[in-house]
Amino acid sequence: MILIYSDKFNKHDKLGHPENKNRLIAIKNILDKYNYKTIEVKEIENIEREIKDVHLEEYVEFIKNFKSDMLDIDTYVTKDTYESAVAAVCASINAAEYAVSKRDAFALVRPPGHHACKEKGMGFCIFNNIAIATNYVIKNEIAKKVLILDIDCHHGNGTQEIFYSRNNVYYISLHQYPAYPGTGSYDESGIGEGKNFTLNIPLHPYTTDDEYIEHLKIFRKIAIDYNPDAIFVSAGYDTYLHDPLTSMSITIDGFKKISEFIKETAKIIDVGVAFILEGGYNLEGLSKGVLETIKVFR
Ligand SMILES: [Zn+2]
Repeated sequence: MILIYSDKFNKHDKLGHPENKNRLIAIKNILDKYNYKTIEVKEIENIEREIKDVHLEEYVEFIKNFKSDMLDIDTYVTKDTYESAVAAVCASINAAEYAVSKRDAFALVRPPGHHACKEKGMGFCIFNNIAIATNYVIKNEIAKKVLILDIDCHHGNGTQEIFYSRNNVYYISLHQYPAYPGTGSYDESGIGEGKNFTLNIPLHPYTTDDEYIEHLKIFRKIAIDYNPDAIFVSAGYDTYLHDPLTSMSITIDGFKKISEFIKETAKIIDVGVAFILEGGYNLEGLSKGVLETIKVFR
């Protein structure tokens, strides 16, 4: 598994905020301890155009020329945010390109992305990394169809919104429900050509490892039927039982089992997987969870 990391992601930081640079530092420390090497993010040509292909031009310009320090009640912006967020998008595209060429990759990025909507960021997210990467590979005809699996504890409302009327992106989300941001009920299933290409799997608080794997079985069935060119994972580790922001009961061993299930599924349909980091706010759960994923994919 190719691991993409950059210190640029950590320029975006706010002391005392749960989404801070210590998250990636914890991951990097554990990777160093186990001798896993990372590669630096590769820049993407005309990246601003790629971002504006998914987000409203005015919103991108607003982040670039930031004026206020809070985008909303829980999402901060600093003078360095644009640089970090652009680097996170580039790393996600790098990972997506590897996955399409059947090499598994993990973009260890922040700020996270799956709550970011077309017109605005929210929920600690600035640009929707996985959506921009997905749009990039399809637009450039590197892939025809992509399946996005969102295993963050929260519903990826931004990713859902961006692909809601498309059938060349299948979006599946498992999330605690109800919880932030309030969306992600079972009957949100797409619109127009995208009808039935969005699947929300709302989970009750305290969902265990075994229950989670049981719910993941539908993902395998869909992957086989849909036959995408790659699987992209919105990889949040905030389902961890000690996460301070959520109430799920996934253990470190659970992250291993979930990763194995994804790997086996990718093997059945013979595609690569790109993991793109989203949430995870207990540093031990986050770093050990990511390590389990990397060990499974090796
Ligand atoms: Zn989350």
